[in-house]
This record gives sequence, C-alpha cells and structure tokens, in this order.
Amino acid sequence: MKIVFATSNPGKLREAAEILGEGFELVTPADLGITEEIPESGNTLRANSMQKADYIYKKTGMNCFADDSGLEVDILGGAPGVETARYAGPDKNPDANIEKLMSEIARREKEAAMARTNGLSTPKANRAARFRTSVTLIMNGRRHFFDGVMEGTIALKRAGKGGFGYDPVFIPNGYDKTNAELGESVKNAISHRGKALRAMAEYLKKK
Ligand code: IMP
Repeated sequence: MKIVFATSNPGKLREAAEILGEGFELVTPADLGITEEIPESGNTLRANSMQKADYIYKKTGMNCFADDSGLEVDILGGAPGVETARYAGPDKNPDANIEKLMSEIARREKEAAMARTNGLSTPKANRAARFRTSVTLIMNGRRHFFDGVMEGTIALKRAGKGGFGYDPVFIPNGYDKTNAELGESVKNAISHRGKALRAMAEYLKKK
C-alpha cells in the first residue's frame, strides 16, 4: 500500500518502515516536492498530528499519516510535553534539547533536596518519564487516530549512538540500557511509535 508519511525526520521514517514492513510503500513530502516545514501549532499531540496529516492530504489528496510525539518527565511536572521538539529553542537541536532536559532535572532535584534538608516534605523525586505519540491516519478522506506510550526513566547521563532525539537518555522500563543502546528492532518492539503504527497497520489490514 502506497501511503505518505508526513515527516522530514529520517529517524522516524526509518522506524516506520521497519515497524510497518513490506506491505507499505512509504512516500515522504520531500519525495512529492513538498519541502516547506509542515505547520504544527496545536496545544496537544493529537492536534499537531492532525494538523500535519490534514496539511499533506489537502496538498496531495493522497492517503497519509502523521505522528506527533512528546516526552513527559514527572519531576518536571510533565514537561516538555507538547514542547518536546522545541524545548531548547526553535531550531529543534537534539543535543541542546537533551542538555536542557538534564539541567532542568538537576535543578529540580537540587530544589527538592534543599527543601528536604529544611524539613519540608516534598514529593519523592524520581526520573520517571514516558514518550507518547499520536498518529493521525487519513484514509480515503477520513481521519483515524492511534496512540502509543512507552514508560521509562531519564538516565543520569547519555549513552548509545542509535535512535534519534532523546533516545540517548531514555531507559525504557524493564531494560537497563537507553533506547540509543538497545538498537532499533528492540526499541520498535516496545516504543510509543511501534505501538501506534502497529495498531494502524492492523486497522488497515482489516479494511
Ligand atoms: P515531533 O513528533 O516531530 O514533534 O517530535 C517531538 C520531539 O520528540 C522531537 O524532539 C523528537 O526528536 C522527539 N522524539 C520523538 N520520538 C522520539 C523517539 O522515539 N525517541 C527519542 N526522541 C523522540
């Protein structure tokens, strides 16, 4: 099945191709000559994935899907959330994003430790986090939604060269390595994107 994946992120494209397998021919906006940045100005992951899928559908009339993902860190009150891609600034630099994440967590941990030494009770500091993704599929002009979550913790330091984005600092539950160390096929089997895209593929197979 030929379908447009509304992304310019090579990491996402590689993962989607592996997750969806041979039955899908993935085409990117760039393959179709669409090179401008696709707008994503919503307040939720779903609003953004819908905005990206709608944009491509309006331009091409082709069946398409988009994903929008976010990282929620408990000690940061759920941040960066919908701001994950631009956490450290508009240029979406992954290294700067990780640096900001690590320094914000360290700051909160320090504040919590100081509050404890002053005898104040603080919620237990922990590095629990999760990736969420929202996928919007537009099939024959109708929207369908698929979500996925991967629970884990934020590592004390970066490790690994695989994956993309925040993968070098995300340790999924049940593992003692970061996503970037685990390798793509292990990550895809348990990831937020893996779950959502496999649900989408199941839906498309049943049609
Ligand atoms: P968006 O879905 O393209 O808006 O991406 C949101 C942000 O989350 C970007 O900074 C991505 O690099 C990051 N991100 C999305 N999915 C993953 C993932 O599977 N691993 C690590 N980072 C991710």
